[in-house]
Amino acid sequence: MNVTELARKLRINTKELLDLLPEYGFDIGKKAIKIDDKTAEQVQRKWKFIKRDLDEKKQKEAEERKLKERELRKETGLMVILPSRLTVKDFSERLELPTSQVIMELMKNGILANQNQDIDFDTMAIMAEEFGFSVSPEEDGTKTDDVFDDSTIETALLHSKNMETRAPVVVVMGHVDHGKTKLLDTIRKSHIIDTEAGGITQHIGAYQTVWKDPKTNEERAITFIDTPGHEAFTMMRSRGAKVADIAILIVAADDSVKPQTEEAINIIKAAKLPFVVAINKIDATGADVQKVKTDLSSRGILAEEWGGEVAMVDISAKENINIDKLLDVLLLIADMNAENIQADPHIPAVGTVIESHVDKSTGPVATVLVQAGTLQKNDKLIIGGEIYGKVRAMKDYAGSDIDQAGPSVPIQIIGFKVAPEVGDVLDLTREKNAVDINVKKKRTQQTGAERATVTDSQKTDEDDEKKKTLNLVVKADVLGSLEAIIASLGKIRHPEVGVKIVGKGLGNITEDDVKKAEAGDATIIGFGVSATSVAEEGMRESHITFLQYSIIYDLINWVKEELGKLLSDELIITEIGAMDVMAIFRKEKASMIVGGKITRGKAYKKLLCRVLREGVNMGSGTISAVQVGQATIKEAVENTECGVKFEGTTKIEIADVLEFYTEENKAREIMFE
Ligand code: GDP
Repeated sequence: MNVTELARKLRINTKELLDLLPEYGFDIGKKAIKIDDKTAEQVQRKWKFIKRDLDEKKQKEAEERKLKERELRKETGLMVILPSRLTVKDFSERLELPTSQVIMELMKNGILANQNQDIDFDTMAIMAEEFGFSVSPEEDGTKTDDVFDDSTIETALLHSKNMETRAPVVVVMGHVDHGKTKLLDTIRKSHIIDTEAGGITQHIGAYQTVWKDPKTNEERAITFIDTPGHEAFTMMRSRGAKVADIAILIVAADDSVKPQTEEAINIIKAAKLPFVVAINKIDATGADVQKVKTDLSSRGILAEEWGGEVAMVDISAKENINIDKLLDVLLLIADMNAENIQADPHIPAVGTVIESHVDKSTGPVATVLVQAGTLQKNDKLIIGGEIYGKVRAMKDYAGSDIDQAGPSVPIQIIGFKVAPEVGDVLDLTREKNAVDINVKKKRTQQTGAERATVTDSQKTDEDDEKKKTLNLVVKADVLGSLEAIIASLGKIRHPEVGVKIVGKGLGNITEDDVKKAEAGDATIIGFGVSATSVAEEGMRESHITFLQYSIIYDLINWVKEELGKLLSDELIITEIGAMDVMAIFRKEKASMIVGGKITRGKAYKKLLCRVLREGVNMGSGTISAVQVGQATIKEAVENTECGVKFEGTTKIEIADVLEFYTEENKAREIMFE
């Protein structure tokens, strides 16, 4: 087998592979071209371990690089001036560091924030010092004193006086494929509130169910956040992080704790969210409930029967086993946290956007979970002090039109002029100072950063549509990485080329991702994930490139290189000389010999030549010979007379000017904004 072929199979560059193999005891020269099949097989078998080492090494190098940068900043006494609050993005810009790196560092310190989220001075100061900066507070007068700066649910709820119990809001979190969707579907199907619409429910991002309280026999509503996959994670990390009251941490009994389980645990802990563990798939072969409990206990999550405080229910979402028990536990947890699960239904509505899209026929449509107050038809839709429109129509999860919605009720709203973003806080208590939204400006803002890379109908920048794009499907092992990647990609801006994300998500590459890549003519990027065998097969068949990365920096470099390739070559034209035509010696179909005087520069064989008549370009050709009398000469210089043989169909006339030049294609170097 050729070494290049093996390298391609292992998705590594050939030189890197040849450098590596001797380190792992393979006797192969650094310049080898072929490798015998047996050794190739051995390499492939051992590859998993080599790759792991390699990834670790690269990670270590990246860490070392970061440390060095930090030391350098310290040595040079680099100072950063910080105001009382900044968004993560603006903070990163002040440090001149990639947003992704700052988000990662925040995560390491237990702070989960997206790039648009505000962080306070103390947090910024700690982070900046970690990066090696010295910190100085911005002068008082220049502090941001934006009235809407602290637009959080908590402050909005300060207006509340007459608190009443509301339905608990539950979010399901866990590793991909552990059964989040199945569980939500099972609950939805078997315990949905019967509606006049005949129970035809639609996915709007959340739904409600009723469950009989086993203690009181009273029917109580529970609201479930029903966003798919990683979006539930994103929402938990959004500005209105207090969307959910209770989390269900789902862990598949046949797979136990996985990276996204750990990420979910971190998010739940950071949000101080009460939770129940649902150990799912107990019907599956290989289910091992004890292992799940052991694995969880090593992460500080101890079951009640093991002396801990966490309720755990063994369930099968597929076979509908113990779902009732799980619902009982949810009500129990709600009772234990009753003082937090209440709201004043009589104030203007406050809520969080949990789903948002632009419908082709209806325009922007968003689902809002009302958290306090009551939203009425015709109410103004106010986000961050801006009026986004007014409630023209409201539908509940069952698709029924409703006129008002109180606390814990999710509703789909029509009436936004611009689609809000998931996590935006709708706050009608701020009506007094609210201003009308500048639709055009908002749309332009939204096409920046993340939005610009997403293929939704939000795009208004026509130039963007004409850009050549590098299309990608991005999959990552954990949300932290996915967000960081998307943010970094969003920062790569160029007027002629761009990145378009046609699919993104958590977990291994699946058939669905392959379909997305095929439809979108995209490359699949895996970050800390691999592909299922079906997906591998699909990628081979459809000739889709799949690249695996473990360091964002490497991925971004690759993207930049690819974007460079998309840029068309630059044509460099060099002017060499000109000649006034004074005589026509010979005229043929596709060539002529003409005589004249070189007025500028020089003339020689192989030059390109344009024919100008009274300043107008009549056509062009090439010079195949330069002559003086009968003799061919190498070149004719300024102020000499000569004859030139012109190859081309343009007919030259006396008094025309011939201009000689060369053309060269040069790959352009890409510069990002
Ligand atoms: P999600 O990615 O967490 O939303 O997972 P899904 O709900 O899509 O489930 C992933 C796969 O596991 C699907 O094929 C489900 O049918 C299967 N699954 C979900 N719950 C169970 C269960 O209780 N038992 C078994 N055997 N399979 C299940």
